Parts: sequence; structure tokens; C-alpha cells
Amino acid sequence: MGRYTGPVCRICRRAGEKLYLKGEKCLTPKCPLERRRYAPGQHGMRRRKLSEYGIRLREKQKARFTYGLMEEQFRRFFEEAERLPGVTGENLLQLLERRLDNVVYRLGFADSRRQARQLVTHGHFALNGRRNNIPSTLVEPGDVISVMPSSRDLEYFKQRREFLKTYTPPNWLSLDPENLTGRVLYLPSRAEIDTKVNEALIVEYYSR
Ligand code: SF4
Repeated sequence: MGRYTGPVCRICRRAGEKLYLKGEKCLTPKCPLERRRYAPGQHGMRRRKLSEYGIRLREKQKARFTYGLMEEQFRRFFEEAERLPGVTGENLLQLLERRLDNVVYRLGFADSRRQARQLVTHGHFALNGRRNNIPSTLVEPGDVISVMPSSRDLEYFKQRREFLKTYTPPNWLSLDPENLTGRVLYLPSRAEIDTKVNEALIVEYYSR
């Protein structure tokens, strides 16, 4: 499955807001959005009034890039969300949150979803005791995510363990920093997902 490999900060500048795609840098004055709050490109400084379609498209793109998915993959998540009972927009966000790369990020094992995805694809994590290098795997309540025994002594995870001792994951996850292990307690409700997107606009985008 492909992924976006272009300049990441450009995505935030296009969206007009911070999407926190680069981890630590996003929290520092080095974030380009702190200095250049306009869209990228030659005409980026022009004020443009977005059409109704443009507003919905932008919201969909924000969610898609936040979770680091290509269009086709994102659409498949949307179709799955439609099939599930309940509110489609909320189902969509819950499905996205259940991705293994997102859970690794939420547990604090990585500074960004991008980094989490790389750690997963490089085989550093186990799901319920078995190595899993597929970032799109959906976790279930009760699942245990742990750093592979062979990776625990890597400098990165040694330092991470210290950081995790001061880190609090969202309520739907529990974390054991000493053992570099996390557990899914339950699936998050919309109120527990802090992603700043208007999911109703995404539903409207795909319903046009
Ligand atoms: Fe977005 Fe982070 Fe880049 Fe700032 S530093 S533009 S928040 S990805």
C-alpha cells in the first residue's frame, strides 16, 4: 500500500491548521505554520473563498492526512463505517483510531503516527504476543500491544521507557511503561477522540 512521501508540513499549510504530523517539531517555533500561515505555492497568499464542495474536501483531506492514508484506503474505511450500525462519521473515526499504527502512537511509543507506522512496519511490535507489521490491523478490546523482546534493548525503546513513565494515554488504553506494553480497554467514543475534524462534512463529501 502506497503512502504520501511529499513534504509533510505542506499538508498542514494547505489545510490552514496544525495537523501534528511531525511529532516534536509540531510543538516548537520551528513549525512552519507558526511563521507562514498561508497555503503553499505561488498563489498561496491569495485569499480564496472555498466552495461548499471545497470545504467538505478539505475536511476529508484533513482526516486522511492526519491518519496517513491514501485516498483508496480512506474510502474503504468510509465504506466500512457506512456498513456498521450507528452514526457513520463516528464509526469512521473509531475505525481510524483502531488502526495498530494509531494505537502505537496513542500509547506514546512514537511521537507521530508517521513514526508509529514505520516502527510497526519494521517489526518492532507484537499484537497479542505475535509480531505484527501491518499498520492497518484493527485492534479489539482486550488486545495487548507490546514491543518485541528483540527490540526492547534498542536505545530508542530504552529512552522511550523513561518518557512513558510520565505519559498518560487516552482512557480507552492502559499502559505498562516498565514492560513496554499497552492494552485496549474498550473502543473510544467520539468524545474520547481528540482529532479536530468535522466528520459530518466527510460523510457529506462522500454522499454527494
Ligand atoms: Fe504541521 Fe507539524 Fe509541520 Fe507544523 S511542524 S506544519 S504541525 S507537520
